[in-house]
Amino acid sequence: MADAGSAPDARDLPPLEADCSACAALCCVGLAMDRGAAFAIDKPAGVPCPNLSGHACTVHATLGARGFGGCVRFDCTGAGQRTVALFSGASWRDDPDMLTPMLDTFRHLRRVHELLGLLVTVGTLPLTTREQARRRSLRDALCPDDMTVARAAALADGPVPGRVERFLRDLGGCLRPLRASADRPTSDRKTSDRSETCPSPQARSKT
Ligand code: SF4
Repeated sequence: MADAGSAPDARDLPPLEADCSACAALCCVGLAMDRGAAFAIDKPAGVPCPNLSGHACTVHATLGARGFGGCVRFDCTGAGQRTVALFSGASWRDDPDMLTPMLDTFRHLRRVHELLGLLVTVGTLPLTTREQARRRSLRDALCPDDMTVARAAALADGPVPGRVERFLRDLGGCLRPLRASADRPTSDRKTSDRSETCPSPQARSKT
């Protein structure tokens, strides 16, 4: 029986949209770039992008034209600003010793937020009462009342991600419409995705 009447996500979730203005350019440091269609340069993970000044991208306005379409498409789903908040607003710029722990937490929270985003999305499908209960239980497991650096690590590396993946697999055919949407060619829609979900590149470019 479909659980059509239930509120999909009454519980408070962390923001799942990036806010670069509250971040410390963690994606521009933490992620590797492979020169090719998405990035104009090679850059190892953990090294600041040469286009970075402070926490601002100096080529933000022309990323696509300069061959950095991968930056336009990337969305941390809110993991960046949450990481900075867990470190009380610290920046690796001020204290290089913070870089590794901040990037570790960024990676853990990306995993947690990615799974939360999927659970929110499937909550809009006509799931059965039992499936909705399972979904809510997994969502709550990823949303401790008091998130900490240690809790983020334990969640990302613990059993919950595997349970979420099993749940999504078990939904099987229910996910077909979502998959069809995700499989659409991305070249004509990713840029606008970024501008909608990540308002702060503009803010960054003003800093
Ligand atoms: S957004 Fe700019 S600074 Fe960040 S990785 Fe891309 S090119 Fe480099």
